[in-house]
Order: sequence, then structure tokens, then C-alpha cells
Amino acid sequence: MKVDWLVVGAGFTGCVLAERIATQLDKKVLIVERRDHIGGNAYDYYDENGVLVHKYGPHIFHTNSQRVWEYLSQFTAWRRYEHRVLGVIQDKKVPIPFNLNSLYALFPSRQADSLKERLISQYGLNVKVPILRLKEATDPDIRILAEYIYQNVFYGYTLKQWELKPEELDPSVTGRVPVHISWDDRYFQDIYQAMPLEGYTPMFEGMLDHPNIEIRLKTDYRALLDEVRFDRMVYTGSIDLFFDYLYGPLPYRSLRFEYVTLDQEWYQEVGTVNYPNNYAFTRITEQKHLTGQILPETTLVYEYPQAHRAGENEPYYPIPREQNRERHKLYLKEAEKLHGKVIFVGRLGDYKYYNMDQAVARALQLFEGVIANL
Ligand code: FAD
Ligand code: UDP
Repeated sequence: MKVDWLVVGAGFTGCVLAERIATQLDKKVLIVERRDHIGGNAYDYYDENGVLVHKYGPHIFHTNSQRVWEYLSQFTAWRRYEHRVLGVIQDKKVPIPFNLNSLYALFPSRQADSLKERLISQYGLNVKVPILRLKEATDPDIRILAEYIYQNVFYGYTLKQWELKPEELDPSVTGRVPVHISWDDRYFQDIYQAMPLEGYTPMFEGMLDHPNIEIRLKTDYRALLDEVRFDRMVYTGSIDLFFDYLYGPLPYRSLRFEYVTLDQEWYQEVGTVNYPNNYAFTRITEQKHLTGQILPETTLVYEYPQAHRAGENEPYYPIPREQNRERHKLYLKEAEKLHGKVIFVGRLGDYKYYNMDQAVARALQLFEGVIANL
């Protein structure tokens, strides 16, 4: 068999690139996926009670990119959804990211009034301040508050999720959930926040529905190398595995998901409740909040962080820190020796903690900036 492009991995990155190459360049694409479904970590399906669940943990779409939004809107209609998260702090459920509502829920109102004034005069209203920066505040009262938030919201959660302390990771990790000096209690403030109306999987099916695209599931690309000839490859798997761990494994974090169905309509007030300080899991998500389904039963998903063990569990999260980036650079140097025959991209190929919209933006940029000009 001969194709123009072999695309390894049918997640966001692989699907966008297969779609672009097939439709814009009119080239033949074989997309090969190790798992038994397309969609990568954003794959969803209906469980036995009819709840639309995300197999690899809750995926909430949000972006500020009009381009990404318009691109995906070709393949799906949307359901408006703004994610809200509560965190259990000292037996109270308070909004996360920590914001002015959380401050008033946890502190007596006179103290909260004073802290609010100090925060606003120091940083401004509707401003986001990463916790590691807030800890460096010159105002001693703000520093005490920052230490409180650090201990109660970030420390335990981050240890569970990464087996590292917040300051042992790139600051961008805890910076994803900055303290928000605002009354806005949403998890994201992006312009576009929505879920694919029929789910993610039909959206991916729409992307790959083209006569130039053939899909091969349950197949590791290596099993095809004798059988398939191709001009170039897009590779969205782990870059260290591609090179047989030449420079040692790149570390990833994995998760174990536990799905629980309850014979009751609702379990919790919002989509996700975080448990920074108790239990082995980090958070519980109630899928129906995300999907808007009205059903008598409900499905929850618990996330238990784990070390990644190659071949045993999935490498869900690259671990953003300096020494890992250095090792990744060695692999990129190795990739250069392939002279563009293989293009590494995606959350695993780039070893970057991309959200879905960032993965799409990166793929579109790669297509327009590189692939379309080859
Ligand atoms: P992936 O989805 O990982 O796809 C790579 C594919 O390649 C996989 O399907 C894999 O099986 C396949 N593959 C690997 N090696 C081979 C091989 N040798 N042969 C064949 N196939 C191979 N983003 C958000 O924007 N919002 C969220 O709420 C959100 N929640 C998340 C929650 C969790 C628990 C996780 C893990 C991620 C979350 N993300 C979220 C991030 C999102 O999952 C990623 O941005 C997105 O999936 C990246 O797509 P990708 O195609 O680069 O990678
Ligand atoms: N985080 C935390 N406490 C929380 C929420 C997040 O400490 O209640 C930290 C933690 O280190 C986490 C990171 O912020 O890994 C990013 O959180 P996010 O919700 O963006 O993680 P994801 O949804 O990507 O797993």
C-alpha cells in the first residue's frame, strides 16, 4: 500500500492534520491509531445508562481563538457550557480558582473586606495573579493570605497530581489556575466556552470523513512499516518512545479513572469538585453537568493520579520542568536527522501541556507554515 502521508495518532492533532492534508492538498492519508477508537484523549461515548462520558477524564472546551473556534465549528454544533469548580477547603466548598467569592466564604466578612481592598489596590480588580507570585507580595497581610491559599488549595493537590511541590514545576502549571481578584467564579474566562453538541467523537468522525482518508484502528504504526509506503509521516505519539528511549524516558504523569453510576439525578452542585486535601483522588466530575443531559441516573468520574509506566498505563501529562525540557531538546536534535520525513507534533510529540484548543492551533499553524509548503 502507498499513501502520501502516514499520520500516527487519531487525537486532536492527528485528526486536524489528516483533515487539512486530505482536503486542502488533495493527498492520500492513512491515519493509524493504537487504540480501538478515534479522538485520542478527548474520545467520548454513551455509558450503559445513556450518560455521555469522556473515557479519559472530563474535557471542557474553551478558547480565545476565533480561528480554532471557526475551524472546529465546521464539524460540530455546540452547546453553551461554562465550567464551574468548587474545592473542599476546611469542610467548605468554595469556588476554584480562588476568587473574591472564595475569600468571603472562608474568612469573616470584616477580614475579607480588608483583604479584598488590599488585593484590589495592589493588583486591580478582575486581575489574575498566579499563586507563586502572590506569595511574593510585599504587603504582609496579602502574604499570609497567599500562604493560606497555597497550603489549602495548591500544595496537597499538586503533590497528588504530580508528586512534586508547586515550586518544583514550571510556574505555568499552577499558573493555569491563578488567584482571580474578581467576583467571576467561572473556571475559564475565554470568549468561546462550549461542548460539542453531540459529543467529541462525532466531531472527529466528521473531520475524518473524506475519501482521501483511511483509518486503521488497534494498530501500532510500527506494525505497518513493512506494509505501507509513505512520503512523510506526522507522529503524535511520545517522541521518546519513537527513538526507543535513546536519551532515557521523558517523564509523564498518568491517571486512573474510576466511573461510578448513582441511582439519583444529581450528585454535586457543579461540574467538578476538587479535593486538594483529602483522599487519593484529586477531583470528582459529574458528566451530566457538562453534557446537559436530563436522565434519572448520574455518572461520576474520579481521577487518581499515578506514575506513568510505559506499556502499563497512558502518558497523559508531560511534566513541565527544566530538566525534562532539556531532555526533550535532545530528542528534537535527533528528529532533525530525519530531514522532515517525520514531523513530531501534539501533546506527546511536542512534550507540551496543550489544552485542546492549543493542540488545534498548533496543528493548523504547522499545516499552514510548513506542511502546505513542502
Ligand atoms: P492525544 O489525544 O494524546 O492523541 C495521541 C494519539 O496517538 C492517542 O490516541 C494515542 O493512542 C496515539 N498513539 C500514540 N502512539 C501511537 C503509536 N505508536 N501508534 C499508533 N497510535 C499511537 N484540554 C482542554 O482543552 N480542556 C480540558 O478540560 C482537558 N481536560 C483534560 C483532562 C485530562 C485527564 C487529560 C489527560 C487531558 C485533558 N485535556 C484538556 C488536554 C487534551 O486531552 C489534549 O490537549 C489533546 O487530547 C491533545 O491531543 P493530541 O492529539 O495531541 O494527543
Ligand atoms: N491546582 C491545584 N489545586 C486546584 C486546582 C489546580 O493545586 O484546586 C494546580 C495543580 O498543580 C494542577 C494545576 O493547578 O495540576 C493545573 O490545574 P488544571 O485544572 O488546569 O489541570 P488539568 O485540568 O489540566 O488536569
